[in-house]
Formats: sequence, C-alpha cells, structure tokens
Amino acid sequence: MTEAEPRVPANITCIDCGGRCHLLTRLDPEDPAQPGDLLTYRCEDCLDRWDLLIPEEE
Ligand SMILES: [Zn+2]
Repeated sequence: MTEAEPRVPANITCIDCGGRCHLLTRLDPEDPAQPGDLLTYRCEDCLDRWDLLIPEEE
C-alpha cells in the first residue's frame, strides 16, 4: 500500500441518475496519476461521461 499516490476511485456515483460510473482512464503503474490529472468516468446507467480532476493532497 503506497500512501504517496493520490486516491483514484474505480467507481463514482453519477451526479445525474445516481448510477455507478466506471473509470475509463487507464492507470499505468509505472506512471501513477498525479494530482491535477484528469480522470474520465462513464455511467453504466445513463452513459453520461464525467471528468474528475485528482485533488491535490493536503
Ligand atoms: Zn447516470
């Protein structure tokens, strides 16, 4: 478990329909996502796409 890497949820809740959104962005273990990077999710229910920025770590 590496605490230095930002938390990247595999799923988020759809803002529109409350369904489950799956992470589309492929994460490379050799090049972990950084704060400020864009993550793209797609809702499995309404197929809406959501972009999420990785928050800066405190
Ligand atoms: Zn949805």
